[in-house]
Amino acid sequence: MKKAIFLDRDGTLNVDVGYLHRLEDLELFPWTADALRLLKRAGYTLVVVTNQSGIAHGLIDPGFIQVCHDEMQRRLQPAGAELDALYYCHHHPRGSVEELSIECRCRKPRPGMIEDAVRDLGVDPKQSWVVGDKWLDVNLGVGVGARSILVRTGWGAEQEQQRPPGQPVDAICDNLIHAVSVILHND
Ligand SMILES: [Mg+2]
Ligand SMILES: [Zn+2]
Repeated sequence: MKKAIFLDRDGTLNVDVGYLHRLEDLELFPWTADALRLLKRAGYTLVVVTNQSGIAHGLIDPGFIQVCHDEMQRRLQPAGAELDALYYCHHHPRGSVEELSIECRCRKPRPGMIEDAVRDLGVDPKQSWVVGDKWLDVNLGVGVGARSILVRTGWGAEQEQQRPPGQPVDAICDNLIHAVSVILHND
């Protein structure tokens, strides 16, 4: 089975502007393409797993997600840093769009998106890492037996200050490129 890096999107790959809903606000970090290329070269399958509850709240047009992810791929492609798959959760238990207002199986830290990636891509969570800027990302990894890294970009620096008692994490890194160096030295 293949090893993967499960990547949070907002605050990890790109600036977290809060319910990103227009392309003008999509800003990849300057190191994102380099970081992803290094991971690809090391043989990892790159999988985005992102909570997009703004759709359930009626704040993000459902069609925007595909537009946004196509644009990300378009920007990453020249650097040889294309993502292998992108999964999103568009639910929220208390949303305003009725059919999306459910306790779903995919909203992080629940493992639904990783379960889908295992089925679709044949990746093994136990050989994989999760990287994100919130404890819910770290706990997604903990739940599936992957290793987990919190990055200080996005909400990460604040999350680090509010670490729950007993919260496990394998590393806390300044940003994604730092996380890549940790991954490559520990695998
Ligand atoms: Mg995030
Ligand atoms: Zn969901």
